[in-house]
Amino acid sequence: MYLLPIPAFDDNYLWLLHDGRRALVVDPGDAGPVQHALEKHALQLESILVTHHHADHTGGVAALRETWGATVYGPATESIPQPYTPLRGGDSVTALGLDFQVIDVPGHTAGHIAFYTPELDNRPLLFCGDTLFSGGCGRLFEGTPAQMLTSLDKLAALPGNTVVCCTHEYTLSNLRFAMAVEPANAKLAAYQAQCVALRAQDKPTLPTSIAQELQVNPFLRTRQPTIMAAARRFDASAHDDNTVFAAIRQWKNQFK
Ligand code: ZN
Ligand code: FE
Repeated sequence: MYLLPIPAFDDNYLWLLHDGRRALVVDPGDAGPVQHALEKHALQLESILVTHHHADHTGGVAALRETWGATVYGPATESIPQPYTPLRGGDSVTALGLDFQVIDVPGHTAGHIAFYTPELDNRPLLFCGDTLFSGGCGRLFEGTPAQMLTSLDKLAALPGNTVVCCTHEYTLSNLRFAMAVEPANAKLAAYQAQCVALRAQDKPTLPTSIAQELQVNPFLRTRQPTIMAAARRFDASAHDDNTVFAAIRQWKNQFK
């Protein structure tokens, strides 16, 4: 199987998975670049997976479905272009012969889902939409800090070698914030240098892995004493899992 991030808009990646003949795409916000990639690699689009309703994730769904007759799978409780097969946490779907498990991850949007398959060429694979980014997490447009923390805990519990396909190239700005929160994290500093070098060559910093994120991502590390202390410097009332997470999220929202 081949996994490629198709760049779109300013900083989106539309993930394409294919076997050399058949393909699936995740969150096609724009049909044009997907169509181009399908033609370039002589692929047939079989399935479209959608994680949440935002236009930068759904804008190309209707055109691609019409062109290819692809089956669309998406979150049951959000409004995405009809018709599609509605999914909830605990459901599974088969696409390209792979079994994907659906995980409910509310927070960025209320009905956001993620797709996880335990074995793709010996490694698990996760399409997490705008829930988890490298070094960061999605903004809380429709959910509470407690919901997002629960969602991120589910993703953090996946195997460390899981290939994590995030949908935006936000890594460098996320890592600048992460360094402000945890300046003494040597693994974070090393990862930041690695990502700066990748971006200087115009290469994606993604996919990442769960193990990598557990070492560098402040939103997966809110129970670390260093991060709890940093959260309290930002908001003295932060005192438990949810309020520490909320403080870090709020700090990031204001960070320049
Ligand atoms: Zn979004
Ligand atoms: Fe997005």
